[in-house]
Parts: sequence; C-alpha cells; structure tokens
Amino acid sequence: MSPQLFDFAQVRADFPILATEVRGKPLTYLDNAATGQKPQLVIDAIERYYATENSNIHRGVHYLSECATDAYEAARTKVASFIGASDADEVVFTRGTTESINLVAHGFVETILKEGDEIVISHMEHHANIVPWQIASQKTGAVLKVVPVDERGVLDMAAFEQMLSDKTKLVAITHISNALGTINPIERIIRKAHALNVPVLIDGAQSTPHMPVDVSALDCDFFVFSGHKIFGPTGIGVLWGKREWLERLPPYQSGGDMIEKVDFEGTTYKGIPGKFEAGTPHIEGVIGMAAAIDYLQSMDRVGALAHESALLTDATEKLSAIEGMRLIGTAPEKASVISFLINDIHPHDIGTFLDADGVAVRAGHHCTQPLLKRFGVPATARASFAFYNNFEDVDRLVTAVQKMQRFFG
Ligand code: PLP
Repeated sequence: MSPQLFDFAQVRADFPILATEVRGKPLTYLDNAATGQKPQLVIDAIERYYATENSNIHRGVHYLSECATDAYEAARTKVASFIGASDADEVVFTRGTTESINLVAHGFVETILKEGDEIVISHMEHHANIVPWQIASQKTGAVLKVVPVDERGVLDMAAFEQMLSDKTKLVAITHISNALGTINPIERIIRKAHALNVPVLIDGAQSTPHMPVDVSALDCDFFVFSGHKIFGPTGIGVLWGKREWLERLPPYQSGGDMIEKVDFEGTTYKGIPGKFEAGTPHIEGVIGMAAAIDYLQSMDRVGALAHESALLTDATEKLSAIEGMRLIGTAPEKASVISFLINDIHPHDIGTFLDADGVAVRAGHHCTQPLLKRFGVPATARASFAFYNNFEDVDRLVTAVQKMQRFFG
C-alpha cells in the first residue's frame, strides 16, 4: 500500500467503535495512551486467520501450518520495516513492552550486571521500565540511578550526562512519557551514552502510535513496543535488539520451539530470534499487529502527527482557560497527552463524571507513581489523543470538564 495523504474522515470511518454510543452519548475516546482502538482491517485479519489459516506454526508440514508460519514470519519482516531495522532476525515477538523489558533485564542479570554496576533510568518511566531494573539491581547488587525531571516534566540532561560513567551498564529510557506526554531527546541520550560505550534501551510504547521510528538512524541497542498501542491486538509486542546484543543474552523462557536439540544430557538453542520465543506464540496477535502496521504504513503519518499536534494545542488552550485547572506536564516537546487536575476534585471523580457524558479518559497514577509523587499528586486525569480523534472530541471533553467544574462548584 502506498501512503495516502492524511484523510481524516476516512480514518475515522475505519474504526467501527468510534461510531458507537456509550451511556446514550457518542463515544469520545480519549484513552489512547492506555490502548488504541482497532481498525476494521485488523479485526478482519484476525477473523480471516481463524477462518482460513488457523494452525500451529513452525512444526507442521501441512498446508495450513505453512500458511500460518509464512504469515507469522512475514509479520516479522513487516515489523522490521516499520521500525527501520535491516534484519528481521533482530525482531523478537513478546507479550508487549513489559515482557520485552523483562526479557532484557533477565538477560542483563544473567550475563552482564555485577555488584556496583549502574543502570540509568529516568523519573518519568512507566513502572514497566522501573520494576524490572529494580529487581535486576536487587539480584546483582547493581545500583539504579534516576535522571530527574523539572517542573515542566523535562529531563535534566545535565544530570543525565553527569550520571554516565564507566560503571553504567545500560540506559533505559522512555521515548515519550505516558503520563506527561514529554518527548525525550533520545538521539542525544543515545549519542552521549554511546560515547562511553553504554548501550541504550528505548521504551517506544508511546512513540510508535504517534510517529515513525527508525532504529537504524537512532542507533539504539534495544527498542520495545506493544501491539495494542499501535492499534493492533493486546498480548503481543516487540523487542528489537541489535544482533550482537540478542546473541549475547540468554533465553528468557524455555520449552518447545526455542530449541535446536534436546537431550537429557543437555539442550542447544535456536539462534535469534527463535531462542527467545518458547512455546506456541500469539500467532493471531502477530497477524493482527502486522495488519495494524499495514494500516499505519498506508497512511500519511506526518499529516497524522500534525493533526494530533493541532488537537493537543486546541485542547491545551481550552482546558487551561478553565478555572482551577492544573496541567501536569508542560514540556515544549509534547505528544498529544494531557494530564490534569481541577481544583481538589479527585481524578477518579473526574473520570466518572466525564464518562457519564461518553468521554473516556484515564484517572489514576498511570503506572508512574514515582513521577506523580515528584509532582506532589497521587493521581491525575489523563486525556490522550490519537489521529482518529477530532476537534469535536476536544470540545466534548472541554464541555464535560466545564460542566463538572460547575457541578462541584
Ligand atoms: N511503557 C510505557 C511508556 C507505557 O505507556 C506502557 C503502557 O502504558 C508500558 C510501558 C507497558 O506496556 P504494556 O502494558 O503494553 O506492556
């Protein structure tokens, strides 16, 4: 498919759920940072797979197994092209960003980390990019270093640079903050880390839904993301790693399919990526994610991003004008995520109130408890936009917030 200019009306029509109503109101879906909605093409691909191709992969010589294996491996090539990787063997299918990070953390515990080593993360990481490194530190005696963020939610790059040393064994950092929307200067982070031969893992869970990513140009060492956030199914995700790194890391889980030869005296493993994919994988998920990638690649992503930025600007201006509004996360480089509080209304009440008007936002800590603690709040309400949202969605959000503000006085 060749990329089309961004066609807003068509894009919206591609997502059947957007035409539905909730609580008797048109659905205003603004919880895209949690998960994206699915275009009909993805739903159809999954249905087609089960209706015409369902079989286990890699092990069968029969027709259906060959079809399923071909579709599964073609998806690997598609993922590689989606993120600008030149070698499809460097693409490992996982359950999602969380499992991808756990896989790398497990490998670092087994092969790299020792007492006194340091792992650098940031204050704005999702728990998925904190807890695995905390456990890795507990197991090895390594030390977790945390790059601070300022009042706007911008990384303190001077502090980051000072943290790097010959003790640093990995920098693991999010591309875009799910709670604040901050877009981090990952090119600079990678360059600075590489100057000291430190590998870098980029958490792309929030960037892949919004912008094209090129791991070759970035020159990061690991890049991870989730299928469900790029408008594919849940339970599927990707770990991309440079070949030399993936070859160095041991298997994460073991069992069927990841082996070359099993004997009671010992077992040898497949090369990459097979050694990381034990057991029957989420074939349907891989096929659905490939369809989602087809969808994204068929679209004008630069135009989509410009549309999202316009929504962000409009929503930010209109929400800021509401009395008692506090925006958490005001970085100059921001994706279309708005975390907010209004007067002393509890974010869960905000979420419930907006839901009554069909407006779906997230309320809570967004799996970033240390970050929210840094801002002195336990939770926020978060509206997050995707390319299929429109300016009416912004207005419905703003109207519902104004109504709530009046209600709570
Ligand atoms: N990292 C970031 C920045 C996220 O936003 C999320 C999910 O919200 C994750 C990691 C975890 O992704 P998943 O739950 O799909 O594994």
